[in-house]
Amino acid sequence: MAGDRIVAIGNERDVLRLRDPRTRVVNLRGRSVLPGFTDAHTHPISGGLRHVECDLDRFDTAEDHLAAVAAYAAANPDREWIVGDGWSMETFPGGIPRREALDAVVPDRPVFLTNRDGHGAWVNSRALELAGVTAGTPDPPLGRIERDPDGTPVGMLQEAAQELVTRLIPPHDAATLERAIVDAQAELHALGITGWQDANVGPRELAAYRTVAGRGALTARVVLALGSASLDAYGGVDGMVAARDAVAAAARESSLGARGSARLTASAVKFFVDGVLENRTGALLEPYLDAAGRPTGGTGILNFEPERLRRLAIELDARGFQLHYHAIGDRAVREALDAIEVARRANGPRDARHHIAHIQVIHPDDLPRFRALDAVANAQPLWAVHEAQMDELTIPILGPERTTWQYPFGSLLRAGARLAFGSDWTVSTADPFPQIEVAVRRIWPGNREAEPFLPDERITLDEALRAATVGSAFVNRQDEAGWLGVGRLADLVVLDRELGAPDAGPISETKVVGTMVGGELVFEAAALEV
Ligand SMILES: [Zn+2]
Repeated sequence: MAGDRIVAIGNERDVLRLRDPRTRVVNLRGRSVLPGFTDAHTHPISGGLRHVECDLDRFDTAEDHLAAVAAYAAANPDREWIVGDGWSMETFPGGIPRREALDAVVPDRPVFLTNRDGHGAWVNSRALELAGVTAGTPDPPLGRIERDPDGTPVGMLQEAAQELVTRLIPPHDAATLERAIVDAQAELHALGITGWQDANVGPRELAAYRTVAGRGALTARVVLALGSASLDAYGGVDGMVAARDAVAAAARESSLGARGSARLTASAVKFFVDGVLENRTGALLEPYLDAAGRPTGGTGILNFEPERLRRLAIELDARGFQLHYHAIGDRAVREALDAIEVARRANGPRDARHHIAHIQVIHPDDLPRFRALDAVANAQPLWAVHEAQMDELTIPILGPERTTWQYPFGSLLRAGARLAFGSDWTVSTADPFPQIEVAVRRIWPGNREAEPFLPDERITLDEALRAATVGSAFVNRQDEAGWLGVGRLADLVVLDRELGAPDAGPISETKVVGTMVGGELVFEAAALEV
């Protein structure tokens, strides 16, 4: 390769003819090269902040969680707030931990701990007291305060109820956000990721990305999805347009070339259409079931009036934005497809690349609409397995029929949909290989003897690799990345084995030994042998 491009692909003799004294020759000795991965839905700043906040991602038991909180509080005596994330719902009965447990380890300072999926938070009594949340506090719109039978808050805030407390937490300063981006980038490059879409960015995070890019320190190709929850903070749709155009202007004017702001665009807007199923905030077409399998009155929470969602889709699409939807339940998926449909009708079809992420439950009638509307299915394949959260929390409240509508990647491909992969890091691992293994096997890599989850929805290794590379690069408008070809961008990853070979071992154990973006080595596990 030369500059940021691949200049030749072929046998050793032909390629070596192009060598000049500055050419570095690397013999991969049977290891393989793939296009770099693009992560079409991720939260790298949360990942980077794990180095400064209380990281609960590694723990399985309530005792271990509490010990980690106690240790963090002791190690950070000057922090007014103990903030962290990464705990998982299956650790606690019904997915709901209690404030008393936290009070026992941190009685004097407020504690706010987001769970792994970000849709709920565990807080202690001090946090509730500072926020003025009592038995008399009503549930806010689109949120729920978990309570004892007498109305007393138990210390778990679902969805928008988290904001009762988060508005009190001092925001991270710019330097911390910038460091989080750089730390996350190093972590992602080491996993073979050469580009991503940040799935929810407010003005402060956008400013941090701009600073990092302006310093020439952004090596990944990044698309920012401006969070619709920050619409007012941006100054409405006009403010979002101005923010996007300012990033584009900085990229054009950058004297830093390809390593400058050119790697950054702010061309998407993200909507949380609904919540998640496990806490019954995902929006369904038909009610959730109770423990006896009978329909409850609840169909979850739709975060937008459908009319507003459609109006915003028309307006943002007309202004050239890509729409990026979080949609978990079949009602949310349908609302997102409807919004894309009305935008196309109002503004005419264009190369918009709107995408719907998560797509946990898709009503079969909606499967062909992805292709018909040119909407990309942005899948998080790692979640398509039998594990505790699925088997104990989700399947019982969906019932047998809707259970089979989950994560229908095979059906989407058969219906002609375009498929992209995103990790939703830090909700789950950013490593592409466990995701690819699950897409192919539908079995959790930590329990390989388990039953596959809906085996008809398995896809081939080739289809999974395409979703994770060219499929996600398409979402990010990186049409010259995501596949190997002469004249294409030299965004590459070197693996420690040849995927798909008979002796390759489990896909999820694949390791990256080198990552290159635009011809520049951005990660090297050990010096690649010459
Ligand atoms: Zn997400």
